[in-house]
Amino acid sequence: MGKFAPGGRLTTRRTTWQGLQFDHGLQFVRPTSDIFKAICEEWLVAGALAPWEQGAVVRYDAASGTVTPRTQWQQQQQQQGAASDAGFLDVLAPGPLYVGCPSSDAITSHIAAASGATVRNDVKVAKAAYDPSTQQWLLEGAVRAPARTLADLKQQPPVTPWNLGVYDGLVLADKMAGCSGTPGYVELSGTTAGQKMQQAMSEVGSTPLLALLMAYQPQELPLEQQAAAAAAGEGGQQQQQLVKQVLDLPFDAAAVTNSPEISWICVDSSKPGRARADGIQSVVALATTEFAATLVQRNPDGSLPPQTPELLAKLVPPMFGALQRALAPLLPCGKLQEPGFVQVHRWGAAFPAKPFGSPCLKADTARLAACGDFCMGGGIENAVLSGQAAAEAMCEMLAGADSRL
Ligand SMILES: Cc1cc2nc3c(=O)[nH]c(=O)nc-3n(C[C@H](O)[C@H](O)[C@H](O)COP(=O)(O)OP(=O)(O)OC[C@H]3O[C@@H](n4cnc5c(N)ncnc54)[C@H](O)[C@@H]3O)c2cc1C
Repeated sequence: MGKFAPGGRLTTRRTTWQGLQFDHGLQFVRPTSDIFKAICEEWLVAGALAPWEQGAVVRYDAASGTVTPRTQWQQQQQQQGAASDAGFLDVLAPGPLYVGCPSSDAITSHIAAASGATVRNDVKVAKAAYDPSTQQWLLEGAVRAPARTLADLKQQPPVTPWNLGVYDGLVLADKMAGCSGTPGYVELSGTTAGQKMQQAMSEVGSTPLLALLMAYQPQELPLEQQAAAAAAGEGGQQQQQLVKQVLDLPFDAAAVTNSPEISWICVDSSKPGRARADGIQSVVALATTEFAATLVQRNPDGSLPPQTPELLAKLVPPMFGALQRALAPLLPCGKLQEPGFVQVHRWGAAFPAKPFGSPCLKADTARLAACGDFCMGGGIENAVLSGQAAAEAMCEMLAGADSRL
C-alpha cells in the first residue's frame, strides 16, 4: 500500500536512529522448484540476492542451549530419515539459501525496476468498479506522499479519495483486498464473480506475528586489551579488534526449537551486504505464532487496532523478556544487555491460515484475478509462482481466450 518502498512482507525497516536497517519480514529465500531456482539465479545476477550458505545458520535448542550447524542438522535428518519441519526450521533443509542484498526489499525493488512497468508505491486502492459494457475497471483510491516513519505518517493530512484511472484488467495481489475491516480491503462492484472471489479470500484467515528489532553499539575493549590488539593487528583488521560485539552469539541466524515464545533469531547485520563501519549489530527476533497470538490484541469484532507507537511500545517488554529467556543458556548471568535501539513490529497477517491450494483465482467474466501466498501457502516461492500464474491468466483473459484454471 506503499508507505515505503515496494515490499509487502519483503519490506525492510529503516530507522532515523543511526540509519539502521532491519529485515523484519522475509528472512531468507530457499528455492525448491526449478522454476523458482531459475528466477533466483536472475536475481543473483542482478545483485538483488546473495548466497547465504557461508553464514552460521543453525538450529538452536533454547532448552539446552545446544547449537547445531545447518550441515550437521541435515546429516542428522538424513540418518534419521526425517524431513525438515516447516516454518523457520525450513532454513536448515538442503539446497541453495539466499538473502536479499543489501536488504530484503532489494528483491521487490529489482522486480519493480526490471518489469519496466509503472509502479506506484504511494497508492491504496479502495474501490474498483467493473463496467461490463467496456470490460474495464475504474479504480479509486487514496494517494499520499511516501513516509518513512510512523511519526511522518501522523503528520500527513488525511488521505483523500482519488480517481486512479481505467484499466483493462484487475489483479488483487493480497488477501486483504477481500477482507472488509482490513486496511487493504477493496470495495468491488459490477461483478458478482468478484464478490464471490472476495468471499473465498476472506475465508483463508491468517496468523499474526511479532518481530523484535534491536541494535547494539559495539563496546570498546579495556585499554590494555586494546593495546595488545593494536600491537597484534594490521590495517583494517585493527579497528575490528579494538571493539567487541555486545551480543556474542555462536550463530548468525537460528531456527529456535523448544521455546514457546521465540521461533527465529537473526543477527541481521551479519547478512551479506550489510557490514557497517561503526560495527553496530542489529538483531531481529520473531515470536512463535502461539506467543504472538497471546500478545496481539484484537477489537471485539476481531479486527486489529491501528499499529500506533503506543501500542507497539507496550509489546517491547514481553518480546524482550521472551528473547532473554530463549537465549538465557548462552548469556552471562542469563541476562541480555539493554539495546541502544529497540522496537516491535506487528504483522497482522503474517502467514495464511488455510491456503486455497491452487496457484491463483480468476474470474474470466470480469477480467479479474487474485494471487499471493494465500493461494499456495506462505513463503516467497509460493507468492512468486502465484503471481506468475495470475499474470498468465490475465494475459489469456485479455487475449479473449476462454480458459479455466
Ligand atoms: C515476519 C515474517 C517472516 C517471513 N520469513 C520468510 C522467510 O524467511 N522465507 C520465506 O520464503 N517467506 C517468509 N515470510 C513469508 C513471505 O514474506 C510472504 O509469504 C510473501 O512475502 C508473501 O508475498 P505476497 O506478495 O503474497 O504478499 P505481500 O508481500 O504481503 O504483498 C502484498 C502487497 O499488497 C499491498 N496491498 C494490499 N492491499 C492493497 C490495496 N488495497 N491497495 C494497494 N496495495 C495493497 C500490500 O501493502 C503489500 O505490499 C515471512 C513473513 C513474515 C511476516
